[in-house]
Amino acid sequence: MADTIFGKIIRGEIPCHRVYEDAQVLAFLDIFPLAPGHTLVIPKEAKATLGELSDESAAAIGRVLPRVCRGVERATGCVGYNVLQNNGSAAHQVVMHVHFHVIPKLADGRGLGIGWEAGKLDGAAGAELAKRIAEGM
Ligand code: AMP
Repeated sequence: MADTIFGKIIRGEIPCHRVYEDAQVLAFLDIFPLAPGHTLVIPKEAKATLGELSDESAAAIGRVLPRVCRGVERATGCVGYNVLQNNGSAAHQVVMHVHFHVIPKLADGRGLGIGWEAGKLDGAAGAELAKRIAEGM
């Protein structure tokens, strides 16, 4: 995989405001925050999208994410928070190294804005789709 700015941060070649670090995971403040406290949680494993991640890295990220969420909540006094994880440029991913955004939602409205145009799940189509997804795992 091509090197990214997050690879440089992991190696300490460019600075970050570090929130947490262990052998497999790094968390640091987003440089263009949607709200103060917007934090990125990344695996040290260099993979572009979540589906490419090893089980070990995935488990390590899963262990750390709730802790970071607690830290963001306590530090910001937010009224809620979103965990966002983009995969692919069509899905708004800019940095091609897996990362989770923890974005506090503040009482004044700052945070993630979401456009959510929901459809309706058809029963028969849903059964077929669920089967195909399960087979692809
Ligand atoms: P995404 O659109 O999901 O790929 O988000 C990438 C995020 O990385 C954006 O929110 C950027 O603000 C953030 N970002 C890019 N470069 C840096 C950096 N050097 N330090 C911290 N955050 C960064």
